[in-house]
Amino acid sequence: MLDKIVIANRGEIALRILRACREMGIKTVAVHSTADNTLKHVLLADETVCIGPPRSTDSYLNMPAIISAAEVTDAVAIHPGYGFLSENADFAERVETSGFVFIGPPASAIRQMGDKVAAIRTMKAAGVPTVPGSDGPLSDNAEENLRIGRDIGYPVIIKASGGGGGRGMRVVHSEASLIAAISVTQAEARSAFGNETVYMEKFLETPRHIEIQVLADNHGNAIHLGERDCSMQRRHQKVVEEAPAPGITEEQRKRIGERCARACLEMGYRSAGTFEFLYQNGEFYFIEMNTRLQVEHPVTEMITGVDIVREQIRIAAGERLSQTQADIKISGHAIECRINAEDPKTFMPSPGLVHLWHPPGGPGIRVESHIYSGYRVPPYYDSMIGKIIAHGNDRPTAIARMRSALSEIVVEGIKTNVPLHQEIFQHSAFQAGGTDIHYLEKRLGL
Ligand code: ADP
Repeated sequence: MLDKIVIANRGEIALRILRACREMGIKTVAVHSTADNTLKHVLLADETVCIGPPRSTDSYLNMPAIISAAEVTDAVAIHPGYGFLSENADFAERVETSGFVFIGPPASAIRQMGDKVAAIRTMKAAGVPTVPGSDGPLSDNAEENLRIGRDIGYPVIIKASGGGGGRGMRVVHSEASLIAAISVTQAEARSAFGNETVYMEKFLETPRHIEIQVLADNHGNAIHLGERDCSMQRRHQKVVEEAPAPGITEEQRKRIGERCARACLEMGYRSAGTFEFLYQNGEFYFIEMNTRLQVEHPVTEMITGVDIVREQIRIAAGERLSQTQADIKISGHAIECRINAEDPKTFMPSPGLVHLWHPPGGPGIRVESHIYSGYRVPPYYDSMIGKIIAHGNDRPTAIARMRSALSEIVVEGIKTNVPLHQEIFQHSAFQAGGTDIHYLEKRLGL
């Protein structure tokens, strides 16, 4: 097993990784910025290394500093968490060429899935359903592009192959604006991502966001852990996630899940990964693959009993998956609320001193948070300060437990979005389940 791991992240996920390491008897190195020396996992780690000033570009994105930290502490592996360098193929490659184990997929898989045109091509070849669209990049041939638009049918969406974070996309409602939209998106893609390749897809108007969690090892084994519904979003940011997705049948889960697992084998994927789909009128349409651990991984852990971080570490150490597909049984329902330090109405970040933190508890409640009474939330990073996960035998029980947890939670000193969550949990549409990705913004009047 890996003897010592560098945790190249911060906040709740760094703590989550530290806990997995402790359980497995693995020593930990916390690398942190000068703004983060009081983070909970930094206080708990076996060793700590300060890697730079507060700005992420100087610390959590500073590849040489992170790799040097691994060298000076004699660590053997680096876990990138999510965000920061987790989907940076160059980083994965540098970690490996420096003689360390990257706890994630091979750099080649990260690179391939980071190029959306290549990702879609790979999925098609593996039999994963994709959005009807241009078969590959658009050329500069206007006639040809108009023909593709007509074949797909309006509205369409022009997307940058190198895009990410909800940027580099443009919806086109009629043929009259297609050609201009293509050149504007190309120009934006060139300056934002250094790659002007764009492609065209059918724009789905009322989809849900449903994703499949997979795990694959180095021994030719790949399994899926079912799906999550992450349709409750604001500005492409997920707010509430749940598993399983309301209304998805066992048969649908099996069909789409097996295709994703097979795709992993065909592309030589390893570690945890997520296939993201839009789901509309009973059909799944692949949009992208995330080659890393996701924020919302706990809902899957709660209904399957699989510790996804532990599996990532075991896989990176060259071990086999600890379960086969037949071992995976879905039990009950889990819902996660992302708790952010922000104003619940204006969504403005609200960093500062947490005077008092009292987490919720009780049956089926799991809290993933790095904050504590007396902790100061720094202004430099993502505003998420934790996640509450509620599990129950069925969806109504999970909802009831979450409502109780939300009414119990105490965070004093900073504003949080807990009131927003309380409101969402009152909505009859949420209670019914299966709302689309536009629901929350419409409901908030955005
Ligand atoms: P990114 O990598 O920037 O997150 P995605 O391809 O995952 O890009 O798309 C981000 C979001 O944009 C999706 O979650 C969805 O809301 C919207 N979107 C993308 N493609 C389509 C499509 N074909 N139809 C409708 N909405 C889409």
